[in-house]
Amino acid sequence: MKIAIVGGGISGVAAADYLHSNGHDMTLYEKESTVGGHAKSYTHQTPNGPINIQLGTSVLLEHYVNLFSFLEKKGADLTQNSTNLSSYFQNEDMGFHIRTDDLKTFIIGALSSSSTRRISWDFLTLYAKSSHYLKRLENGHQELSYRAFFEKYEFYPEFRNFFPTINAMLLLANPVKSIENAPASAVLHYNDLMQLLTPIHKQLMKTYSFAGGAKQTYDILISSFKEKIKYNSAVDRVVSETDGVVVSSNGIEQKYDKVILATSTGTQALSMLANGNMTDDESQILSNFSGCQNKLILHTDDHFAAFSGKIEMYNIVQKNGIALGKNYLNQIMNLSDSTNYYLSYGGMGVDPDEAKVLYTNDFEHPLIDRKQWTSFKKKALNEIQGKRGIYYAGTWTNAGEGCHEKGYISGRHAAALVLGEQYEPLKPKRVPPIHYFLSRVFCRLKHFSGLDALKNI
Ligand SMILES: Cc1cc2nc3c(=O)[nH]c(=O)nc-3n(C[C@H](O)[C@H](O)[C@H](O)COP(=O)(O)OP(=O)(O)OC[C@H]3O[C@@H](n4cnc5c(N)ncnc54)[C@H](O)[C@@H]3O)c2cc1C
Repeated sequence: MKIAIVGGGISGVAAADYLHSNGHDMTLYEKESTVGGHAKSYTHQTPNGPINIQLGTSVLLEHYVNLFSFLEKKGADLTQNSTNLSSYFQNEDMGFHIRTDDLKTFIIGALSSSSTRRISWDFLTLYAKSSHYLKRLENGHQELSYRAFFEKYEFYPEFRNFFPTINAMLLLANPVKSIENAPASAVLHYNDLMQLLTPIHKQLMKTYSFAGGAKQTYDILISSFKEKIKYNSAVDRVVSETDGVVVSSNGIEQKYDKVILATSTGTQALSMLANGNMTDDESQILSNFSGCQNKLILHTDDHFAAFSGKIEMYNIVQKNGIALGKNYLNQIMNLSDSTNYYLSYGGMGVDPDEAKVLYTNDFEHPLIDRKQWTSFKKKALNEIQGKRGIYYAGTWTNAGEGCHEKGYISGRHAAALVLGEQYEPLKPKRVPPIHYFLSRVFCRLKHFSGLDALKNI
């Protein structure tokens, strides 16, 4: 069978590897000059030689079992990060700051000011409140927006402001407003998937990076089929015909038996079909999976850093209603360089000093919103998946759950569908029940021991 894959992110590479290793004639089209998609590296020349800096997908969590097994099979190594998922959040409008790097710091912080105390308290109860909400939903209760969820469950105002921003900036690179308006279950589902809820868990969770950086890793992943990749080959048109699917790139048309569209967002898949021929169903369903535009800036400007000494992996500073996300790459990637490197993103309103900017990149990221989530829950994509010889992969097919594990699973799944096979991903280790238990204990304490009085402290 002759198959085209459009997009060389983790989903396209997963699909390509499986089809190629099963003896199929596969071609991978990538519009950029490298594969990896959102997992990009930037090589920076320092006086001590070049260093590879990650521009996305810098943190791989220990429950990415399917991705890790793929990397192992291909002989690609991981480096364990020296720190766990620590973050610093500062809200200058509300006058609080919080650090989650370890339980001790978290508790000391929690005791240091009333607003930080209220945030920490709610942080510890979020698991219990989320699972209560999701159970009610199963029993037919109405879905709420993420913001309404925080209001209904009487989280303190600081936390209502804090956590959606964390979600938006840290995990999804989505605008904060869109996270707040998204269905609560979509974001709670994502929190659960990322197993990111409690600082207790962060204590235990190990994080990893691609050994040597994304470029090195992807070079290994594609080594068996590198001659099958067409670089700088943006596909602009996909036309389904009775005897195959025509793919058009750089003015050249090529016919395949099947095509997998493994793009960053549904909008990108839609535009290729819109330029060719598409059905009303395809147009309607794909237009629900939209994306949002964002910008990454790699720089060395310490200006927004939370601390000058030990800086947490993620810094999120909110001022005048604008949030700036900043990843401290020396921590995340164990970069051994005396210069501090940062990655800023989000609706900033504040840009780093231009002289200290090394690289900028515009990107499109799946958006978690009501349309996307409803379509995902209804399994609407299944109605067009594989019809007319066209298949869809990418993290966007999981309602915007943008993580490498889901990207891998979606690509491997699409490849199985092409071959008419079943694919059952490995199941990750679940969050230890002790976390739910502790979370419930904190919830009860708040309600029954007069700790609600914290509200007025
Ligand atoms: C800044 C940032 C940080 C992130 N950090 C993490 C992290 O720490 N951990 C984690 O697990 N996940 C992280 N993610 C999410 C993760 O990187 C993505 O979810 C994952 O890489 C998505 O893979 P994908 O295959 O779905 O899409 P992509 O990686 O977006 O790949 C899609 C590919 O399709 C190509 N393409 C699109 N249109 C065309 C066309 N017309 N013709 C040819 N090619 C085309 C693109 O160039 C791209 O290479 C991050 C994402 C971003 C943006």
